[in-house]
Amino acid sequence: MTTTIGIDIGGTSVRAAVLDGTEVLGPPLRDTTPRTERETEDLLVTLITKLAATRPVEAVGLAVAGFVSADRRRVMFAPHLAWRDAPVPQRISERVGLPVVMDHDVNSAAWAEFRRGVSAGSPLALLIALGTGIGAGLVVDGRIYRGAHGVAPELGHLTVVPDGRPCPCGKRGCWERYCSGTALAQTARLRMADHDAPVLRRLCGDDPDAVTGTMVAVAATEGDPVALHAMDDLGRWLAVGLALVTDVLDPEVIVIGGGVSAAAGMFLPLAASEFAGSITGAGHRPLPRVELARFGDRAGIIGAGLLAAEAVGGA
Ligand SMILES: [Zn+2]
Repeated sequence: MTTTIGIDIGGTSVRAAVLDGTEVLGPPLRDTTPRTERETEDLLVTLITKLAATRPVEAVGLAVAGFVSADRRRVMFAPHLAWRDAPVPQRISERVGLPVVMDHDVNSAAWAEFRRGVSAGSPLALLIALGTGIGAGLVVDGRIYRGAHGVAPELGHLTVVPDGRPCPCGKRGCWERYCSGTALAQTARLRMADHDAPVLRRLCGDDPDAVTGTMVAVAATEGDPVALHAMDDLGRWLAVGLALVTDVLDPEVIVIGGGVSAAAGMFLPLAASEFAGSITGAGHRPLPRVELARFGDRAGIIGAGLLAAEAVGGA
């Protein structure tokens, strides 16, 4: 086994751990994502130095929440990170003296599931990460599919409702506005205006603007009617999106990951049954398996570590 460091760099936090294959050795180190390029890189160097002092490490993998160039040498743009057209792996490698590879965070998660998780060996595996928005990663014939310019597949911003809910991307009616943690909160908030939501009102301190996706998930487990409605609504929108992407890609497996997937028991059965009934040619074609991700919120770290190991000839 090759020993690596995997780092997941998200918009709010950076998490880093040493890995032996897919085994994360010890709890990941965590810090708040800095706001400038230099501070972000300084933090990465600090984390790598700390972890590399605990045991010999051969390579570093970065899983970045942003657009990564097709050659994986530059972060082109990231809405919640400071980097703009930045050669991040080269900069970090020069400072720590280790090989550094980088990929998009959901690509890394999709790779972890493909190499060692629920989509292992699949000829066409799609990972849908339900979090603040929707991230997607696609592995085709054993390779991460990146598109011509490195930004595919950007499924969260498929338009599912013309002139629908506004999206920070500038469009309206994007899939992730109806099917994400943010969507759970918004759907619940809208319905609270004219429906009883005793648990949710208690959790948000009677301030609907304070409702979060996590609160909706908790309230749903306690039987709150508005929270349960929001979960059903998310399940139906998940089915709509899964049918769309299945018509385009015909995947063998669709893996559902991301933070919202922790509440999958509340929406995935409905999503799977609606999806099976609504797809083009329903009943006359094989459907993809729909599976819950194995690696949870560590998939980015694990995928980054695996990609780093493979870059130096190990795994
Ligand atoms: Zn959008």
